[in-house]
Formats: sequence, C-alpha cells, structure tokens
Amino acid sequence: MRRLRNVKIVATLGPASSDETTIRALFEAGADVFRLNMSHGTHDDIRGRHTIIRKIEADTGRPIAILADLQGPKLRVGVFANGSEELVEGAKFRMDLTDAPGDVTRVQLPHPEIFAALEPGASLLVNDGKIRLKVDECGPDFANCTVTVGGTISNRKGVNVPDVVLPVAALSAKDRKDLEFACELGVDWLALSFVQRPEDVIEARELARGRAAILSKIEKPAAVKAYADILAVSDGIMVARGDLGVELPVQAVPPIQKRLVRGARAAAKPVIVATQMLESMIESPVPTRAEVSDVATAIYEGADAVMLSAESAAGQYPVEAVTTMNNVALSVESDPTYRDVIEASRSAVRNTMADGIVSAAREIAETTEIKAICCFSQTGNTVALVARERPRVPILGLTPLVSTARRMCLTWGTTCVVTGEQERFKGAVIAAVRAALNYGFATEKDHIVLTAGVPFNVQGTTNILRIAPCDERLIYKADPE
Ligand code: PGA
Ligand code: MN
Repeated sequence: MRRLRNVKIVATLGPASSDETTIRALFEAGADVFRLNMSHGTHDDIRGRHTIIRKIEADTGRPIAILADLQGPKLRVGVFANGSEELVEGAKFRMDLTDAPGDVTRVQLPHPEIFAALEPGASLLVNDGKIRLKVDECGPDFANCTVTVGGTISNRKGVNVPDVVLPVAALSAKDRKDLEFACELGVDWLALSFVQRPEDVIEARELARGRAAILSKIEKPAAVKAYADILAVSDGIMVARGDLGVELPVQAVPPIQKRLVRGARAAAKPVIVATQMLESMIESPVPTRAEVSDVATAIYEGADAVMLSAESAAGQYPVEAVTTMNNVALSVESDPTYRDVIEASRSAVRNTMADGIVSAAREIAETTEIKAICCFSQTGNTVALVARERPRVPILGLTPLVSTARRMCLTWGTTCVVTGEQERFKGAVIAAVRAALNYGFATEKDHIVLTAGVPFNVQGTTNILRIAPCDERLIYKADPE
C-alpha cells in the first residue's frame, strides 16, 4: 500500500480514537503521523495508543511517525467558590496569588512570574480569548484589571498573555516528566508548545538526547518575531493557529501561516498547518466549504502536513475527517495550477553539493520518463533536500534506520522504506529498484534516479547521482561485480 498524495496527514488521538479498530481505520484512511497530546490523558492512555500504533506498523510493514505534543507553560486560573462567574464589560476584576476560591471580583492566578512581567495596559485573555481583561495596576502578587470583553469564567480556564515575553521556563515540571516518558516509550517527534525563544528549543533538545526530533509550535507573538532563530534550531515547525489566533488578531494568522510555511520549506524542515482545519466535522460527517478551502490552501502553499485535532481525537467522525483531508489532497494535487504554484514558490538556494545533486535529480526525473527519485539517507537530511525540490515524481526515502524512516513520515511526498545496511553501491541500487517495484512506482521497463553517499553509513556524504534501469538483469550486465 502506498499513498497517492504528497501532503502528509497528522491525526491526533484521543477518547474518540483509542481502540485498535479506529486507529487502524485512521491509518488506512490516510493518517501518516499520529499525535499523542500530553495535555490530556494519563501516561497509561498514551502508552496504550503507542502500543497499538506500533502493532499496526508491524502488521503493515509501513513506518508510522508518532508525535508527542508537550503541554508547555500553559497558564491557568484557580477555582471559583461557585464553579463559574459571569464577568461583564466595564467591571473590575482582580487576579492574585491568594489561594482562596474566586468570586465575581477576583480569582487566583498561581503564577508569580506573570505578575513580575506584567505592566499596566497589558491584556490578559481567558478561555481561548473569549474574555479580555486590561491591566490597570499591578504588583508582585496581583493585577487589578478592567473587563473589556465579558463572558463566563470558570475553574482552571487557560490564560494567554500576548503582550509580554514571559520569564517562564519553556518546560514545566510536568513537561520534563512527559518528555522523559515519551522518549523512553519511543516517539519520533516531540512538539514544544508556547516556544518563545531559540533557547527553549535547545533546552528540550538537550533533554531528548537524540531520541526524538524537535518540532516547535509557533503560537506566541514572540515566536513569530524570533522565527528565523527558532527555525534554525528546530527540526520541524507547527503553525499552531489555535493559540496564535488568541494571542494575535485572527486576521493576522493567514499571512503568518504563509510566512512560516515558506520559511520552513526554504530550510528543508517539515511544517504542519494545524487547528480547526475541519472543525465542524467534530459533529458533522461533512465539512463546510470554507474548511475544505482552508485545507486546500495549506496544500497549495506546499505545507508538508495538515493536521486534525479534536476532529480525530474527540469528534464523532474521526475516520471521515481523515478521508476528507485525503480527498482534498488528491483533488488539489491533480490540479495543474497546483504544480505552477508549487514551482513558483520553490526556493532557489543551492549552497552544498547535496543541494546540487538533489536539484539535478529532480531535473533529470522531470525531463525524462524516470518514475521515482530514490534517496539513501542515514539522517533523513538528503531526503528533506529532495522534498524541498517538491518534484513531480514520487520520492522514496531509503534508510537502514527505522528511527529515520519514522521521522521522514512527516516529510512532503516521501514514501519511507527501511532497507538493510548497505555495504556496496550495487546493493543499494538493487534495494532501490526493488522498493520502486514493490511500491508500484515503476515497472521493470522503467528507470529510477538514485542519490546516495559513498562510503555508506557515514552521515552527510551525498555524492552520487545514478540513473538505473529497474530490470535487475541490466544492472548486473552493466556492473557484473
Ligand atoms: P494545541 O496546539 O492544540 O496543543 O493548543 C495547537 C494550536 O494552538 O493551534
Ligand atoms: Mn496551542
């Protein structure tokens, strides 16, 4: 089985998708990457889903990526004596460090570092930005505010503070525990929430010690500002439009999405467009036309992946949501305009020998009858460079390392294949040809183009570009040794 589309689909698992039958159906409908959200569910829940995914992977022989999403420094208010209160516009409301239950005049905000960073005039947003407070005066343990947009505030609702770079650690004590748990369990990607600075990413990378690749969720204005530096130290990016649209005006999100996707594509790092893509499918078996258009836009922009959150984790139609994304991808990618748009937005940076080899591979494949670009890679870096070319022909990412194959599942257009360790170049050619035939990319009459690095099993040595016939007898004839 192989996918007939380039863009990858990330499906978040949750209560609606924790049993083997559903997870298998999601995979068969097109999910390439499963997201385990550490903000919800116990470690046992997460472990159960992880076990099922690995079982499906073993059954199908297809690498599957698992992405563990760390909650990050999510701020929350305390509790109310009545459970909830109605805040009306113009009213005064106080946040403080006092442990007593809240009422209509005040509530606890158990984060001293926030009070230290606040200034009069700053906004505090509660419950996904539905309630807005403006700080009138503040001290080390309180902020007196005016309600500028009213609404219902209830126990432990989330708080966003868009105007300040918060002096909080990127990883809470819970995040550190979750990170270690996820790495021990064996996940391929770690997503970091509320990244503010490149140091946040570096800190997580040190804790992960190579056990997982690091994906930065861009959902704070500070992260948008520091995007170039954050991208440079990250392995991948998520355009986390949910919190981004709370911290910034919603109309600021589309231009930011465009900029983030372009930046990540130019850097040859996978980028996921996330949140509310098919939101109405939580309760409806069919999406709105606007949602379909949103998924299509991300695909036309050349994003590596589109993501489902509550649609697949907690909705009534998780499988239908994946099928919808798959169908939108097939429709967009067969539109001639799609090729025009993708090619017009290709980055022209050619700095290294590997860049030169992969762009030549694309040129050759697109100007001849070649059926696939096969790429041997230890780290997945060369595969990422081939994918950056956004070629018309499929990419086969071949690696002896299962961890690399799984990580590459997030990469645009790449079918990931685990091969044995290669010692000799001819063995690699034969492995590539067999993979191309097995996956139905080519027949024995066709040719493939192959990139590799010799000596094998050394990182960063891509130095060979070979056109090979798919008929093994011809390979032996050309090179009897
Ligand atoms: P979340 O991140 O679903 O973990 O909040 C995505 C977003 O904010 O868009
Ligand atoms: Mn978020």
